[in-house]
Amino acid sequence: MDLTFLGSAREVGRSAILMETKKSKVLLDYGVKLNEELSQLPLPVHGFVDSVVLSHAHLDHSGAIPYLFKATEPTVYATPSTIEVSKVLLEDSMKIADSRGQDCFTRSDYKRMLRNIELVPYHVETQVTDNISFSFSDAGHILGAAITRLHINDKKEIDMVYSGDFKDTDTRMHKGAKMPSKADVLIVESTYGDREHPDRKKLEKEFVEEIRSVIDVGGTVLLPCFAVGRTQEIVTLLYANRLECPVYMDGMGSAISEIYLEHAELLRDYEEFYHAMKWVNWITDRKQREKVFDEPSVIVSTAGMLTGGPAVGYIPELRTIKNAAIFFTGFQVPGTPGNRLLNEKVFDYEGFAMDFRGFNIKWFDFSAHTDKNGIHKFIKAVDPQLVLINHGEPEQSEALRKWVEEEIGCYVFTPTLREKFGLEDFV
Ligand SMILES: [Zn+2]
Repeated sequence: MDLTFLGSAREVGRSAILMETKKSKVLLDYGVKLNEELSQLPLPVHGFVDSVVLSHAHLDHSGAIPYLFKATEPTVYATPSTIEVSKVLLEDSMKIADSRGQDCFTRSDYKRMLRNIELVPYHVETQVTDNISFSFSDAGHILGAAITRLHINDKKEIDMVYSGDFKDTDTRMHKGAKMPSKADVLIVESTYGDREHPDRKKLEKEFVEEIRSVIDVGGTVLLPCFAVGRTQEIVTLLYANRLECPVYMDGMGSAISEIYLEHAELLRDYEEFYHAMKWVNWITDRKQREKVFDEPSVIVSTAGMLTGGPAVGYIPELRTIKNAAIFFTGFQVPGTPGNRLLNEKVFDYEGFAMDFRGFNIKWFDFSAHTDKNGIHKFIKAVDPQLVLINHGEPEQSEALRKWVEEEIGCYVFTPTLREKFGLEDFV
């Protein structure tokens, strides 16, 4: 069995790993890398692809799958809610590409993908090819996200765990992922390979206090939030703290919230989330948007990095309000408008560079990824002979590689793009 990294090699984005035997080709994820303007594809796969095992809906894991259907017709295995969320995200990415006149997969590629989906709930062993089977378990990352355990029976029998994106501690929305049992090979993400997250309870308290201090002096707070997971988490947190001012929810996060509402079984506290969704004001049209500024309020809106969505439209008006604030709730990728606003205090809007010096702009680390302590625990639990580190900036991946080398002592690599590993050589 050969593994080749077609993306997410010493980078965050375009996760794509090819598993190849003489008879079959199976992909673990096939995502895009979202830059400011263009999305970058993983390396292409030549010839027939039997199947894609998709860990979760985020576009950096799913966004390139429809492109495969230009040349081949794989079966796509994913949890039911991953597919529901993926559909919203993929349809949105088609729309954005259309509006920018950019190349994208076609509607018919997308439809062919939809015809080739096989839904796989957590903990159901599923045969993908003659010599590969797998099962999913809850990754605690976003709705439907999975850690994938594969059983490979090629030249040798090999158990392999692919972490995908995971979080091992509880959030408002999800229970932390359970640690997997032993396997021979581990592919593990390293987004926070050398960093620690703050204590969640303390972070929540500080976040709510900062919001209250803005509202108390008559300001309005914009919270740019990712559509999947973060919007729901932040609204639930504000509800749990019974924020006294109106709270509005806008953008694609609303469509995703509808999906979350249908999956009580996957949420940590459905009751609390359900009431939060009844409590928050859903913004559905322009008229409602104009009313948001009538009194001090909180706006929870996509896009989380201000790459588009209604959040961007609120900013010019917000700038004219005394004591207003923008609090980011997720990581701001370098090169995005959110990153520039946070670090350079400049927001590019319709060709103008708006100056935000002196404006109340903060960032709160509500990450849906585990940190280095969680990754270390995960690696110890799997206790593998071979660790392949992906999905991390070079510095993060390298720090994790060093830790594995020193603390675990097994084979460990940070694969480069196109690098191939014959698994039987290591186990
Ligand atoms: Zn993700």
